[in-house]
Amino acid sequence: MHIVTAKEMYDTDRYAMEEMGLQGHMLMENAGRAVATEIEKHVSLKDQILILVGKGNNGGDGFVIARTLLQRGYSVEVLQIPNDEDIQGDALTHRKIYEAFGYGYHTFEDLNSLITFSSGKNVIIDALLGIGVKGPLRSPYDEIVPYVNQLDAKVISVDLPSGIPADEGISFEEAIQSNFTIVIQYPKVSAFLQHTAPFYGEWKAVDIGLPDHLLGKPESCGVWTKEDVVASLPEREPFSHKGSHGKGLVIGGALQMPGSVTMTSRAALRAGAGLLTVATVKDVISILASSVTEATFIALEEQAGKINSVDGIEFSYDGVAIGMGMGRHPEGEELLREVLKQAESPVLIDADGLYALKAYLPHVTSRSSPTILTPHPGEMAHLLGVEVPELLEKPFQYSRQFASRYGVYVVLKGAFTLVTTPKGNQWVHTTGNVGLAKGGSGDVLAGMLLAMTMQPQSIEEALNNGVWLHGSTADLLTEDTHSTYDLLATDLIDGLSKTYRT
Ligand code: ADP
Ligand code: ADP
Ligand code: MG
Repeated sequence: MHIVTAKEMYDTDRYAMEEMGLQGHMLMENAGRAVATEIEKHVSLKDQILILVGKGNNGGDGFVIARTLLQRGYSVEVLQIPNDEDIQGDALTHRKIYEAFGYGYHTFEDLNSLITFSSGKNVIIDALLGIGVKGPLRSPYDEIVPYVNQLDAKVISVDLPSGIPADEGISFEEAIQSNFTIVIQYPKVSAFLQHTAPFYGEWKAVDIGLPDHLLGKPESCGVWTKEDVVASLPEREPFSHKGSHGKGLVIGGALQMPGSVTMTSRAALRAGAGLLTVATVKDVISILASSVTEATFIALEEQAGKINSVDGIEFSYDGVAIGMGMGRHPEGEELLREVLKQAESPVLIDADGLYALKAYLPHVTSRSSPTILTPHPGEMAHLLGVEVPELLEKPFQYSRQFASRYGVYVVLKGAFTLVTTPKGNQWVHTTGNVGLAKGGSGDVLAGMLLAMTMQPQSIEEALNNGVWLHGSTADLLTEDTHSTYDLLATDLIDGLSKTYRT
């Protein structure tokens, strides 16, 4: 499923209109009817519905929705916010059609009109402002939105909650807090940002018949779905052997932090790695040996319980993951550099490895195999040299610039984990839940990703499938026996078996 910016959506509409002959009012008819059909799943004939209609295309959709619902027997009233003469183009066409059916509407005069017409309504359809919103809400929307937000009614928004911009990096002051948003054709970027997504409530996209090949830009951006996983996760070959399923190496751990590498290693094996070696300090090996029975070990030189050098490792692996529980020390930089130079396989860098990477970053471009970074927002902000809130305002832009500048794959973790390729393709993930916000779940992810990168699929498929499996396992586990409080990172490792079976 594509994700679009406002400009891409307008370009897509324009293309459909100018190149394909799908006229604007036809698209508006499709949109309104598709949204109305979806609304029917959330309301009943007993509900009292008020549709708030704004001046632009979003308002035009509102008139089609109103007509469709009235024809289907629902109790609907319409409150048009602008004056009659302010409604133009396709929206005007549809108001005329609406009136030709014999249906009436009220016009907003002041807040009293809203107070009057919202009284007794238990459903409000927000067709006020769509992707055309610019700047802070102006009168009378600045009064309407707070009033709607304090009503005790179910609020359903059309395309996006009014006041929320479609794009990232745009500030806003007030917006409709929806219970449910019916997205027209493609979700907009703001549905995946920490500060705007909550306004959407739940959302669902409806198809309005736009052809799919319209976005004439080199990169693509979308949501990675279960269908994508099913289509790309390779079947196991019946005559394959452990070597065909990837020989992986995990480098990390320190005397004070034996848990991280344990989790990464067990997760890598559970996710399908054929063979796994863990390179760490001696004392960690003695802890690991009993809990990761399937792995082999390399004892590395150490100082004060931390890995000091990667001497002794022969880099003949299909995939390497480095950094988990490694600790931060000056030698970290040197050993990371060695790994990146010597390994001819994909190298995944997580946690403390990311801190050790910063100085060497400009040289990473020269690697001939993929380099994968899996930062959480704090680690990513550190690599970028910006503050976390600034990063979270524009995660798509920051990730894309960073990935293309250094030629790396970036898995920016969070509630909406974002996978970016060096070419700038991006996929957002909607699996996973707050149960994952607990120490160790990132270490488990690193192991799953390591295993995935060693299977016969592209790196981008591997990363997306790994993130999807990780998040879906959390969803499955919290659905059944766990609440989001009591999920443990280690539960994800065994829980993965369940996800693989769905
Ligand atoms: P469009 O018609 O551009 O597809 P909308 O349905 O979102 O998109 O309508 C945009 C209309 O809303 C514009 O005509 C503009 O006059 C109005 N508008 C945009 N931003 C604001 C704002 N912050 N406050 C009030 N009205 C706005
Ligand atoms: P650690 O280093 O402790 O293992 P990380 O911060 O590296 O943890 O990784 C945390 C993992 O949990 C990531 O996969 C992230 O996407 C996920 N996660 C964290 N918070 C949330 C949340 N609120 N909703 C969904 N997933 C989350
Ligand atoms: Mg981590």
